[in-house]
Amino acid sequence: MPKTPVKKSAPRRASARELVFGDLWEFDPAPETADPKLKKRYDLFIGGEFVAPKSGKYFPTISPGNEAKLADIALAGAADVDAAFQSAQKAFDGAWGKMAGSERGKYIYRIARLLQDRAREFAVAETMDGGKPIKESRDFDVPMAAAHFFYHAGWADKLDCLAPGRRVAPHGVVGQVIPWNFPLLMLAWKIAPALAAGNTVVLKPAETTSTTALKFGEILQEAGLPPGVVNIVAGAGETGAAVMTHPLAAKVAFTGSTEVGKIIMRSLAGTDKKMTMELGGKAANIIFDDAPLDQAVEGIVNGIFFNQGHVCCAGSRLLVQESVAATVLAKLKRRIAVLRVGDPLDKNTDLGAINSREQLDRITALVQSGVDEGAEMFQHACKLPAKGFYFRPTVFSGVTQSHRIAREEIFGPVLSVLTFRTVEEAIEKANNTAFGLSAGVWTDKGSRILKMSTELKAGVVWANTFNKFDPASPFGGYKESGFGREGGRQGLLDYCKLI
Ligand code: NAD
Repeated sequence: MPKTPVKKSAPRRASARELVFGDLWEFDPAPETADPKLKKRYDLFIGGEFVAPKSGKYFPTISPGNEAKLADIALAGAADVDAAFQSAQKAFDGAWGKMAGSERGKYIYRIARLLQDRAREFAVAETMDGGKPIKESRDFDVPMAAAHFFYHAGWADKLDCLAPGRRVAPHGVVGQVIPWNFPLLMLAWKIAPALAAGNTVVLKPAETTSTTALKFGEILQEAGLPPGVVNIVAGAGETGAAVMTHPLAAKVAFTGSTEVGKIIMRSLAGTDKKMTMELGGKAANIIFDDAPLDQAVEGIVNGIFFNQGHVCCAGSRLLVQESVAATVLAKLKRRIAVLRVGDPLDKNTDLGAINSREQLDRITALVQSGVDEGAEMFQHACKLPAKGFYFRPTVFSGVTQSHRIAREEIFGPVLSVLTFRTVEEAIEKANNTAFGLSAGVWTDKGSRILKMSTELKAGVVWANTFNKFDPASPFGGYKESGFGREGGRQGLLDYCKLI
């Protein structure tokens, strides 16, 4: 009797669950192994030297990816901040203040080259200190920081072209305070234009991410930058306040929350200090029904999940045209389900750690408010590491403009989805916020892009892309997102006085 032919089994097809939850896509761990060359203790960088704080105090800094202690950081008290300003003033009154732009440019160029040479080391240190995925520190933060120094090195001897018909001069000593979301990049945004314009600097990094800023002192030493031109002091709000209000600060530049920005502005009211403020945001990422939806979904993911949503210009409000809302949401959920959350040092990680427990608690509370106020929550079903601060990528649909998650800056990987029918409604909803830092528009129509970018009250409007930066492009806000620009000719002008 002829045998029944054995049926060859067809290749197994992924089940719907596997496709959605990504069980098929397990990678082996691929940790970055470069040595970050971290010291056990970081002193303050004042007058070109690492000096112990007069306060005698140190505070620990931990890695948010695993909560392990990284180093002890010197805490600058008022006397240390004063020493930093005295040293910056001395440098400004001395060689640096008299140096030709072409010479200053050489130092800035050298800093850029040294940062490039030590890029891998700085990327690992940045990831360990701040929690962001290594692929972001390696491919974005560190190269972009170097790019800012390169760009501004080129300006140092061309300041005559900055304001046609006018001459420009430096302010003197500049006090700068920065946040924890892009520690090294924010440092570059602040220090590079200040030096190109001929100022000297006292900078304070955020208390949870001081390591790479102090490590940057090593680069300044290697570059042979004259003592006192850049001084770096560490500490929390009290140290920041001492930097912002110091009598020798001719100009102050602050990047951080709107709440702290307002406190600083109140404390400086009535003084003649020049000020620039880069504050919070609640950007709308607007998807029209003629947009290339797959590309738009990538843009949405990049807009809100990049750097765990620790981005002032994050596209945290998705405004999607009603006719394509269900399709976009379905595509978005599929895409989110295959994002990899975990060890920031793993080269395959898409979302690393939340910067601190305090920030994790803030995100958790705001997400709870979204649930309590009746929005529908979708969360990535992944397993999170047992140690460290992690939060699942989260999408809320059915959000209305009155929900807290649609109004307040969450600064985490949390997206609120709202819908609209007409161009006018999209503009009205996008502008219905206290902030005005950035926005995104996805559409096939050039004329619509022009209309939207004219009517959206946002300092930056991206079209058919999101979160793109260039040192030559000015960045900054409207309304409660602050004033002044960083990057480009406009950013450099903020570090000069017109004479
Ligand atoms: P934060 O305002 O809490 O702290 C920012 C910095 O200010 C830190 O260095 C902190 O130590 C210091 N500080 C705190 N109190 C101070 C005071 N009274 N006086 C002077 N300095 C003080 O902000 P954060 O939580 O570190 O950063 C997140 C915020 O930064 C978000 O709101 C985000 O949108 C904003 N941000 C804005 C931009 C931009 O370009 N607009 C860029 C990055 C981050």
